[in-house]
Amino acid sequence: MKKNVACVINYGCQMNEYESQTVSKMLMGAGFEMSSNPDDAEVVILNTCTVRDNADLKVWHKLEHLLPQKRRSRRQKKIGLMGCMVAAQKEALLLKHPEIDFLITPAELQSIGKVLADVTARRFEDYSTYEVLTEGNAAAHRSYLPVQTGCNFNCTYCIVPAVKGREVNLSSVEILNKVHELVSQGVKEITLLGQTINSWRHEGLRFSDLLSRVAQKAPKIWIRFLTSHPVLFDEKILDVMRENPNLCPWVHIPAQSGSSRVLKAMKRGYTREAYLDLIGRIRETVPGVCLSTDMICGFPSETDEEFEETLSLLREVQYETAYLFHYSERQGTVAASMQESIPEEVRKDRLSKMIAVQREVQTEIYPRFIGRTEKVLVEAEAKRFENQYKGRTAGNIPVLFQHHENKIGSFVEIEIKEANSQSLFGDVV
Ligand code: SAH
Ligand code: SF4
Repeated sequence: MKKNVACVINYGCQMNEYESQTVSKMLMGAGFEMSSNPDDAEVVILNTCTVRDNADLKVWHKLEHLLPQKRRSRRQKKIGLMGCMVAAQKEALLLKHPEIDFLITPAELQSIGKVLADVTARRFEDYSTYEVLTEGNAAAHRSYLPVQTGCNFNCTYCIVPAVKGREVNLSSVEILNKVHELVSQGVKEITLLGQTINSWRHEGLRFSDLLSRVAQKAPKIWIRFLTSHPVLFDEKILDVMRENPNLCPWVHIPAQSGSSRVLKAMKRGYTREAYLDLIGRIRETVPGVCLSTDMICGFPSETDEEFEETLSLLREVQYETAYLFHYSERQGTVAASMQESIPEEVRKDRLSKMIAVQREVQTEIYPRFIGRTEKVLVEAEAKRFENQYKGRTAGNIPVLFQHHENKIGSFVEIEIKEANSQSLFGDVV
């Protein structure tokens, strides 16, 4: 273990990534050197997720690995947990591992500065206050910007409202100030974050107003937003997207299922038909728009036929990207006490089928980009070949290309020459 070395391990969503970056930045401010290796570090923070059970499992395993190191270091090593799993399982964590140094729920996040100060002073107290954390972001050229926390929906499978609380929206003034700050730091892409971002409302402004103001505040950089809820997607958002070329033509709009009966049991608030109608309007209004979704298979009582409807929705919409999950019971949710739970093997089998169908879709649609020139934001070296870099199109599709110069953080024009089911490949023009 090295003194004054800290490690933050992130699990889960983009909001967590943002918060992990913020905490890393605070630790650096307190004189810590950051490492990606928890074995070396004096302070280890796990930023946890609990949306599906495999997220929990990873953290339990990590603790089994790290806590003996703490004992060997005569308790010099400090191990803390933050994030949604803490809200859902604080008692279980404390009961099983009382030697954990601190546990911070999302509602207590604002006290993280005090906790970290105490960590450095090697002193521990009780922590609890609630405010939305907006400080800092260590990202270089891409940045997340939370504009909303919590969620007012009650999808029957989902633990997010229980662990994150009710929806809280930041004011447009705070958001625009943050955008200005990020632009002056040289950021090239900002992704606005919220669980149902299109429900954002503040002092008479709606999400379409916010989007238009953000786009105008930062005309030279790319703006993205996620996640959109299908029920709240008003046409004005589409008009603003069409009118502002820096708003990336990409919408992450999870369907969750292709069956109207299952959607009703999930309490999503729309039918397959209404969802498809909306997708049609998005495609009509925003030319060249790329779409992505989240899908769950094996929800309690989902029949083979209903699952087939999910496969057919994937085929029909032809999403450019899809995040596919098998259903996972979360304690305390309505769905966890539903009858007719689907056996684990069936859920897994359905997941493989969804993955296979989505791969087929991508194999079909990615070659359509061949011959086009796409603006790409360069993200990193690709590592597979020398001088190979990777980036993303405005539609959020990965692109690989060769370049003699390191262009990470810049926009480049790439002529697309090849495609497979995962990425596009091209040459700089
Ligand atoms: N607010 C977003 C998503 C939040 S959670 C929305 O409404 O779309 C991210 C994704 O995890 C969800 O879209 C869903 O597909 C998946 N998910 C949430 N709870 C789940 C569960 N119990 N089992 C499997 N997947 C789940
Ligand atoms: Fe969960 Fe539904 Fe809220 Fe998304 S909208 S966070 S899936 S309850």
